[in-house]
Amino acid sequence: MTGRTVKFRHLVLSTAALAAIAAPAAHADTLVDNVDGIRVDAEGSVQRFGAMLIDDDGRVEKLYRRGAKLPKDPDYRVDGEGRVLLPSFIDGHVHVSRVGFNAIGLDLSGANTMAEALNRIADYARRNPNKPWIVGRGWNEVRWGLGRLPTAAELDAAVPDRPVWLVRADDHAGWANSAAMERAGITAATKAPDGGRIERGSGGKPSGVFIDSARQLVEAKLPAPLPEERDVAFLQAQDVFLKRGITAVADMGTTLLDWQSMRRQADIGRMQLRVVSYAHGVDDMVTIAGPGPTPWLYGDRLKLTGLKLYLDGALGSRGAWLSAPYADAPGDTGLQMLSGTQLRNLMSRAAMDDFQVAVHAIGDAANAEVLDAVQEMKDNYPGDRRWRIEHAQIVQPSDLPRFGSLGVVASMQPHHQVSDRVMAETRLSPDGLAGAYAWRSILVGGARLAFGSDAPVETPDVFEGLADAITRQDANGEPFGGWQPQEAISREQALAAYTAGAAYAMGADGKFGTLAEGEWADFVFVTVDPLLAAPADLRQGRVLSTWIAGRKVWSVQGNVAAPASER
Ligand SMILES: [Zn+2]
Repeated sequence: MTGRTVKFRHLVLSTAALAAIAAPAAHADTLVDNVDGIRVDAEGSVQRFGAMLIDDDGRVEKLYRRGAKLPKDPDYRVDGEGRVLLPSFIDGHVHVSRVGFNAIGLDLSGANTMAEALNRIADYARRNPNKPWIVGRGWNEVRWGLGRLPTAAELDAAVPDRPVWLVRADDHAGWANSAAMERAGITAATKAPDGGRIERGSGGKPSGVFIDSARQLVEAKLPAPLPEERDVAFLQAQDVFLKRGITAVADMGTTLLDWQSMRRQADIGRMQLRVVSYAHGVDDMVTIAGPGPTPWLYGDRLKLTGLKLYLDGALGSRGAWLSAPYADAPGDTGLQMLSGTQLRNLMSRAAMDDFQVAVHAIGDAANAEVLDAVQEMKDNYPGDRRWRIEHAQIVQPSDLPRFGSLGVVASMQPHHQVSDRVMAETRLSPDGLAGAYAWRSILVGGARLAFGSDAPVETPDVFEGLADAITRQDANGEPFGGWQPQEAISREQALAAYTAGAAYAMGADGKFGTLAEGEWADFVFVTVDPLLAAPADLRQGRVLSTWIAGRKVWSVQGNVAAPASER
């Protein structure tokens, strides 16, 4: 993760603007005391403390054991009232702008039946008569017990007069009504692009659902959001994360427009969240960052560090690329979205300019392919590369140790295991599941584990994720004893994966994630001790307040974030 000199005038200017924003005038030494403090390093070893001194800039100056002699006259003192204090959480895999747009758009994720979803859609369309398209997300026909995908005709009954486009909960399929298909010029003759599938009804007529890259056929016709809508969406997303105690995220698939929106908000001091960006493709990577990763900007709040690639789809829509056919679709092994050569070329293109590479791989064939590619490229691109595999859900048991031996970071989402369990057992044979969601085996093999949510695909609730990780059970305690319980990990390991591990994965170790001396004082006060609470209580854990660089940015009493100019 090499830095580079800032050469361009506009960058120098914005660094100067940043210096003004981060001016220490409002800061002075702050002692946060009377806390039940916990810090955990990347290996999961724990240190407890009773007080923390934060310096002028908002960095950790010193941690004090309980009962230790404390500095007498700090400029400010925060009484923790004996509450649990943790390093704030880091989500290793999210989609920031989609989280934001979901927060302001039609959300179907709570709908339990298709009838309920259709009611919500019709209601939303009625309340938004001026929207040229009705756009939303979060449907899941499995949750509805439908036993098949929904159709355009069903959607026409809710909204006949305007195009409707609804993305599935896993983000790998979209559902259109007839008006949307008409607007996109889709007919029985339309062919699915490589890496995609069009669901078809009688006579080969597209029935309304478009999978993986076929989504583009419709999405290319969606009206682009205005810059001000993007800015509102970003601030909404920031709020979603801060109130869950998440102060840093890896944004998987940052576009130029996403980047510009974050810059606009950061320029006026409204960006609190730390975002490490992985570009949506080579074009966005080069347009945003030019010849190499950007510097850390705005007091370590924004950096474009790498490239996000997709090698396959998701298990739910049978897009995950498997080495053996799906148990419930003989002959179908999923979607390989890049050829081996394309994958290697794109990885090289990023690596040669020191960009980090993060590859989405869910099926075992996809994971094996990325591991093979890293193995072949390691010698050409030596040094600390931190190759990342995103999701790593289904892996051949013999490939699990290769994460460690090749230095590949496994970026995984505990909640996927819980919400996918029943579906995964339908899609795969028991043999095919042997290396599924294998957190423990990956750690045992010496690899780094970064946890996250894949928000908006799953809620970014870290307490749920911690409970999932240590139990491999859902909120109802199912299945009894946990699903493949040998892959559960310790509380310390789980907390590390949501803090130090995720920081390492995004190249932010030493900056934040462990409350080590010299790191930013990014922390949370929470209602439970994650190392002691019963799993059910842990799942109910809540954040009381969220702090970034020693400053409170959110609390249950009300959002306290304010533009820098008003501080
Ligand atoms: Zn994702």
